[in-house]
Amino acid sequence: MSECIFCKIINGDFNTEFVYENEYAVVFKDINPKADTHLLVVPRKHVESLNELDDEVLLGKLMMTVKEAAKAAGLKSYRTVINTGKEAGQEVFHLHIHILAGSIRL
Ligand code: AMP
Ligand code: ZN
Repeated sequence: MSECIFCKIINGDFNTEFVYENEYAVVFKDINPKADTHLLVVPRKHVESLNELDDEVLLGKLMMTVKEAAKAAGLKSYRTVINTGKEAGQEVFHLHIHILAGSIRL
């Protein structure tokens, strides 16, 4: 997936800082934050959206990564969002889970 911006980030092409990472996913700050803290949990494997995901183990690992990354960031209270499809606001077609905390402007 050479044209995918999140694959490039995972590949280290932009030297993006990962605030948390594990075997399954990387977590970095959203470039256009919609909350005081706005993180993106992104699977290392390219999957276009939740609609294309057929790996329930990966789904579980991603949700555990949300919890771990939130804890690592010192968040006790946060909102998780997955936009699926253009009409729902998905802009990057590599599955990701938003973590939003603090003052949320969504
Ligand atoms: P979505 O609208 O759910 O597809 O979310 C995509 C998110 O990725 C948006 O909130 C963007 O601000 C964010 N984004 C796009 N490009 C980058 C980037 N290079 N680094 C960090 N976040 C990005
Ligand atoms: Zn990708």
